[in-house]
Amino acid sequence: MEELHLDGSIGGGQILRSALSLSMITGRPFSIINIRAKRSRPGLLRQHLTAVQAAAAICDATLEGAELGTLNLHFRPGAIKGGDYEFAISTAGSCVLVLQTVLPALLRAPAPSRLRLKGGTHNPAAPPVDFLQKAWLPLLRQMGADVKLDLVRHGFAPAGGGEITVAIQPGELRPLVLDTRGPLISQQAQALVAGLPESIGRRELNQIAQRLNWSSDMLHNILLSTAQGPGNVVLLEQRYEAVTEVFAAFGQSRVRAEHVANQAVDELLVFERSGAAVGEHLADQLLLPLVLAGSGRFTCLNASEHLKSNAEVIQQFCPVRILIEPLEGECHQVRLEPR
Ligand code: ATP
Repeated sequence: MEELHLDGSIGGGQILRSALSLSMITGRPFSIINIRAKRSRPGLLRQHLTAVQAAAAICDATLEGAELGTLNLHFRPGAIKGGDYEFAISTAGSCVLVLQTVLPALLRAPAPSRLRLKGGTHNPAAPPVDFLQKAWLPLLRQMGADVKLDLVRHGFAPAGGGEITVAIQPGELRPLVLDTRGPLISQQAQALVAGLPESIGRRELNQIAQRLNWSSDMLHNILLSTAQGPGNVVLLEQRYEAVTEVFAAFGQSRVRAEHVANQAVDELLVFERSGAAVGEHLADQLLLPLVLAGSGRFTCLNASEHLKSNAEVIQQFCPVRILIEPLEGECHQVRLEPR
């Protein structure tokens, strides 16, 4: 098959990850230039390099340029193999993003797989494991995916050291139609605190209780072992009939706990007001599964840069048109049309 030429400067690491997933599945080799060219530290970081190596190991790919910091890469895939795999990111890079890179291919492998991934499990600007477990994977299961994800150990940036295990049974994905989120069923907040004062979690939860008027039984201050830290994340979970959303904000030194809580609350309130079925992050992460299922649609909060650049890469690999159209209010519809 002819090599596809991609320009990575249209987005971030997601461009590379989607290209890897789709190359493994379609068998089409690709070259990419300008990987993450507009980011402050351009090129392949550890997390991206591990994703490249994991994808290559799973489909016996031939690689050129797979080195830290590189801006250009060639990837020529072979056949996808199921089996047992272990991949470790030596930094706190997100192992969740590595999982999302290889999962679509492993769902199409000729045999089941078990993955052990080490690195960050709760990273700013990446999906926390809880988001996968509660929001993303349930929708994939609804589409027919048989995936079991266990969190073995939390890993926060910058220390890392987290671990997840994943069991994947291959199977076809079915289309998903998600026009509305349905009625609200339950809500809860978790503050995870590892190797930091317990009062951080308490202050975050107080702030959440005040702003959202949530009662104490909806608030959970979870103290993890010091060895899993230092780290702190606030996770707000909204369970609706058709979808669960998780809004995360990460503790940072010199940022007040109340401010961290406010970030997650603000995100939740914007989503609540919009009436969309899924929020910004679920939207860009649902796109690839939808395309692999062959059809489907959802409503989402906004047409984010991640959503648009991911759609661009997918359309280069697959004979599909991805339509992202504004609806009334703060809401968009994403749907597929054959090309
Ligand atoms: P860079 O932008 O530096 O290249 P990257 O390789 O880490 O970064 P991105 O391309 O930015 O990755 O993609 C990050 C992914 O993480 C996107 O799918 C985005 O939706 C998701 N994400 C970011 N923050 C959250 C969050 N709070 N909850 C769920 N998902 C998130």
